[in-house]
Amino acid sequence: MPRPFSPARSEADRAADERRGQALERQLAGEVSGVAITFVDHSGAARVKAVPLTGLARAARSGVGFSPVLDAFTSAGGIDAASPLCVPDGDLRLVPDLDRLAVLRAPEGWAWAPGDRFHQDGAVYAGCQRSFARAQVAAGLNKGISALMAFEVEWMIGRDTEEFHPAVGGTGYGLARFLGAADYAREVIDSLEAAGVRVEQIHPEFGPGQFEVSVSAQDPVSAADTNVLVKLIISAVSARRGMRASFAPAVLANNVGNGGHLHASFWQDGSNLLAGGRGRYGLTERGESIAAGLLESLPALLAIGAPMPASYLRLLPSRWAGAYQVWGKENREAALRFVQGSPSDPAAANVELKCFDLSANPYLLAGAVMAVAMSAAGRHAALPDEVSGDPGVRGHPQADQAVRLPASLGAALKALEANDDLRAAAGDQLISTFAASRRAEIELADGKSEEEIVTQSRWLL
Ligand code: GLU
Ligand code: MG
Repeated sequence: MPRPFSPARSEADRAADERRGQALERQLAGEVSGVAITFVDHSGAARVKAVPLTGLARAARSGVGFSPVLDAFTSAGGIDAASPLCVPDGDLRLVPDLDRLAVLRAPEGWAWAPGDRFHQDGAVYAGCQRSFARAQVAAGLNKGISALMAFEVEWMIGRDTEEFHPAVGGTGYGLARFLGAADYAREVIDSLEAAGVRVEQIHPEFGPGQFEVSVSAQDPVSAADTNVLVKLIISAVSARRGMRASFAPAVLANNVGNGGHLHASFWQDGSNLLAGGRGRYGLTERGESIAAGLLESLPALLAIGAPMPASYLRLLPSRWAGAYQVWGKENREAALRFVQGSPSDPAAANVELKCFDLSANPYLLAGAVMAVAMSAAGRHAALPDEVSGDPGVRGHPQADQAVRLPASLGAALKALEANDDLRAAAGDQLISTFAASRRAEIELADGKSEEEIVTQSRWLL
């Protein structure tokens, strides 16, 4: 489990982390040379500082220094001069969460741990995305509600060039592509499992050179940690084999993209609120309220879950990306796909939020979904009519009812800034610095062709 949320780290926390660090230094000596500690910035990029193994206990006690300006970095690697964070002073401590430390096979000799950001006096930094997610989980637990989440990861494997040339042929779900990349896929699975990731399945996806891996559901913060780890490991395995992995929402203009679908279920008193009830498909009243709240808030959540201009080149009808603000049981065109547990496993029921992609900061997204779900759990709301089929095809009987989600980052951002639940949960600092960083991306993309926008974000990590 990730470190529980409290507004500040005490001296007792520091001492306990230091002891744990010392124990790991002894345990991993000879196997691991260094530990990479990451956080994910507002542009969805994992930022890293690494320490030698012999420095782990110290880093665990006091953290490693990281300027708050990192959240003003744009996807192009520059600093947004208009951001409130664009100042040279100040420092934060990025403290590894040693309970989530994983020893890596790729890259070899390294371990990884996600970090939380604190002020030097130990107070949680209000702009720390992982701490926001931890706080939302804690708020849910206070109300007796918890969540299980899992991010699906789609990626396209390319040759080691700036442009994208698929490194494997074959078609989606095809044995030819699977066999062409069987050694690679095996190394991906082995490396993930060796790092403690529980892989559920891997398959060739529909797009050129595309694969997908799904992992077991976990608490929301761990699910976000796993998302960072999975992308890191797939990138490292690809690089080792002279290839490049693109997780970008749009890898090629005018083609299907990579989704980062988020599966979520919500639990109370040991039962899944999305199963075993008297409502449609076994939804409980509270489960339906949560699903309805999520559906209603999707435009606002989209700014966090599809945060790049390129996200909107992916989020188009008839691509299974979930471009419509509708729900449907097992409907892959619906932004909210209801997955009913099977008779043999009813508790597996969950909602799949398909409109999101992997340029999202997974901590912000997991925390925001949790915040919306918690506030929806306290209200009564019914889901609207279910939509089946693809509302994008001509003559669809529910075409009028099927509203498109925002078609640009600017429109999604407006919905986010107007969402009181999310502002109350995340606080002004997190929302306003995030919004500033999105405006910088909108400006970077201004006047660019689709081709240029795709090129700009193709290799983001
Ligand atoms: N690649 C699609 C997307 O952009 C998803 C395909 C699927 O349903 O798994 O989200
Ligand atoms: Mg898929």
